[in-house]
Amino acid sequence: MHPKLVKYLTFPLHEKIIGRKTFEYLKELERLQWTSPAQLDELQFEKLKALLMHAGKNIPFYAKRFSESGFDPAKMQSMEDFKALPFLTKAEIRENLKDMTWSSCPGGLHRYNTGGSSGQPLIFYFDRRRQAYDAAARALTHRWWGIDVGDKELYLWGSPLEITKQDRIKDVRDRLTNQMLLSAFELSAAQLHLYVKKMEKLKPKCLFGYPSSIDLFCRMAKQHGYELNNFGIRVVFSTAEVLYEHQKKNISETFGGVPVANGYGSREGGFISHECPKGAMHVMDPNVIVEYARNSRLVRPNEDGEIVVTHLDNWAMPFIRYRTEDIAQFDDKPCMCGRHFSIMKTIQGRTTDFVVTPDGRWQHALSVIYVVRDIPGVAEFKIIQETIHSIRVLLKVDANLFPKEGRDLIVKGFKKRMGKEVNVTIEMVDEIEKDASGKYRYVVSMVAEKHGFDIGEYF
Ligand SMILES: [Zn+2]
Repeated sequence: MHPKLVKYLTFPLHEKIIGRKTFEYLKELERLQWTSPAQLDELQFEKLKALLMHAGKNIPFYAKRFSESGFDPAKMQSMEDFKALPFLTKAEIRENLKDMTWSSCPGGLHRYNTGGSSGQPLIFYFDRRRQAYDAAARALTHRWWGIDVGDKELYLWGSPLEITKQDRIKDVRDRLTNQMLLSAFELSAAQLHLYVKKMEKLKPKCLFGYPSSIDLFCRMAKQHGYELNNFGIRVVFSTAEVLYEHQKKNISETFGGVPVANGYGSREGGFISHECPKGAMHVMDPNVIVEYARNSRLVRPNEDGEIVVTHLDNWAMPFIRYRTEDIAQFDDKPCMCGRHFSIMKTIQGRTTDFVVTPDGRWQHALSVIYVVRDIPGVAEFKIIQETIHSIRVLLKVDANLFPKEGRDLIVKGFKKRMGKEVNVTIEMVDEIEKDASGKYRYVVSMVAEKHGFDIGEYF
């Protein structure tokens, strides 16, 4: 379908039918991205106060929480008052699901869940307003890269959850909105051929998906001699996982040197930040309040902290000071692009993207990833830290390329980075499974998973 037809007719019609004000919000965000930091602060405070007053009045969980904390939203004077409220954890959401929803929400409650990368799914609800604000944020940030509503877009998606949703109705909807969804969950050589053909036919202007899936797709395509640099793709949008430098480079090269732009968000937390062409990850300040915390205090600029999110537009089930379990820093310097949305940087992913060393250091997963990646012939791998002293490495290798001393190099490399007392076992496997959500995690640390980012509590 012609992009203009989608932009001016089918997409607006779709949003109108389901009751989303996506286009109004997009206009609002277009304006707000250039307003002053002081005006943004003022807007955030107003929206926050309205949300908190609603939560205290209509949502039993928060009514109880506020009264226990001696907090009265109507009397809130500044952000400092808000910061006295406790953080909200995933466990609390699971335990209080019913008491956290607004039963008479206009437009109804829409149920979602996360696949649960640690095996435990999280169930929660959105309203139409949050869906619309997130969709508007997505459209706004795509425009930063020259992609407009209605432009052809290909999703290379790794999640079986999304795929099962792709029923006939969604198929038609995708055609009407110029989107195409391909599953990268189980890529095979036969599928690869089909995908390249589909891509050639659709000629998408942008590609969107998990970096691990897109990277794998690119590597497989290269291996089978496909050229992907002439399909007209202008930009690749990476989401839902940490985008590693090696993936960025490979993806960019495969599509003829196009930019690979990073986005951060989650199903439960919403659309949170996105990279601009000047390289800054701008937070959607009009829609979310983001804080960065460690050991129950807020960190300073350029310090690692857990991302804590308050989505200002989900009145159906407010998440107030929600601990995402992802780690990042923030920058207090302005961006060259002139937008005043605040800046998130060095997103390091989940607390579980770390390994914990016997002497108490939280070492970024990359440090061990690079040990394995440097060995020739390693096709896929997964590193599992089972206890503080034991690491299992699953390896899928190309036997012709993998050197005799490969195993020794890995063991040595790990001991060097984590300590001599760490016991490393290596298992050769034919296949490495993705987790329940379809994401591919290179490193799983059961130690980090168990203890979260409150290092002080563990050591
Ligand atoms: Zn910028």
